[in-house]
Amino acid sequence: MEMDSIDTLKAKLQTPQDIVILTHRNPDGDALGSSLALSIFLQKQMHSVKIILPSEYPQSFSFLPQVETCLVYDLDRERAMDEIKQASIICCLDFNGLDRIDKMGQVVDESKAYKVLIDHHLDPEPFADYALSDTSASSTCELIYTFIESLDMLNKLDVNIATCMFTGLITDTGSFKYATNDRTYQVASALKKLGVDDYGLQDKIFNRYSPRQMRLLGHCLYNRLEILPEYGAGIITLTKQDYEDYNIARGDTEGIVNYILMLDGFSIAAFITEQPTIVKISLRSKGDFSVQEIARNHFNGGGHKNASGGSAYATLDAVVKRFKDVLPKYREPKSI
Ligand code: 5GP
Ligand code: MN
Repeated sequence: MEMDSIDTLKAKLQTPQDIVILTHRNPDGDALGSSLALSIFLQKQMHSVKIILPSEYPQSFSFLPQVETCLVYDLDRERAMDEIKQASIICCLDFNGLDRIDKMGQVVDESKAYKVLIDHHLDPEPFADYALSDTSASSTCELIYTFIESLDMLNKLDVNIATCMFTGLITDTGSFKYATNDRTYQVASALKKLGVDDYGLQDKIFNRYSPRQMRLLGHCLYNRLEILPEYGAGIITLTKQDYEDYNIARGDTEGIVNYILMLDGFSIAAFITEQPTIVKISLRSKGDFSVQEIARNHFNGGGHKNASGGSAYATLDAVVKRFKDVLPKYREPKSI
């Protein structure tokens, strides 16, 4: 999907612009990494850049360069809206539809600014003037590299930009375990050449469980895992009470869903959590089985073939029941 050619955008970027970068709610390593990488790159070309996050970022990413300069919509809605209204270019990264950025979506929709979409999710909405949307890319960070390459400006990359991009590469691929392609490794290699401390980065991002988080993981696997062997599926649920008991903070539950896929012969995983007003569902799969349709058709969500999410205004039990009820429509039970 590509509306304007890169040349139109390239010409615009010849003069200093007021650029706003937006990414999705509950930003992850790819959302933050791609936003920061693009922001630092654009600042080097003398543009004025503001990143707006719909909600706060996990503390585990506080080491990322300039992350503290991000504006958080939930904390300062008026300023966030003003920044969007004043922007001459709006870049939407790592999400595919304006409903993923809450009320800001409407302001973006109404804005006359030049809109750029760089993303790797399925079914992108056609709101952008220039779109680089590629579902085969491992991450939006991989596409940021492609984007800068298409501007003929790879020579402007530096170790900070590369570190931000590498972050998205490893967080969206589970340290190169899934969603990779040959391009992913080429980009990783180029970033490493720019001086990324890949080992240190992996350690900083993945090996930082607190004892409380480790026990929460144990609780999920020991007490909250339901196994449906006939579907090769597993479900982990967390109640509001669990959130209180384990003092769960933003980002603490990241990655727990993937443990289900470590079960031999299992290829569908659901992680269902009771939030203050909604119930959120995270879905993962292996191989050909697509969880994207389940998220889209039954949980008002979407994402990728092997990693999707959604939510529902319902009780935790009702969402678990809905998931179990729809599963047979997508997968034949095997006799065991
Ligand atoms: P997670 O399960 O880690 O929250 O999200 C997995 C993938 O599904 C991400 O790529 C994310 O963008 C997508 N996703 C998660 N929640 C939603 C949702 O509510 N709506 C849509 N459209 N996509 C979602
Ligand atoms: Mn991503």
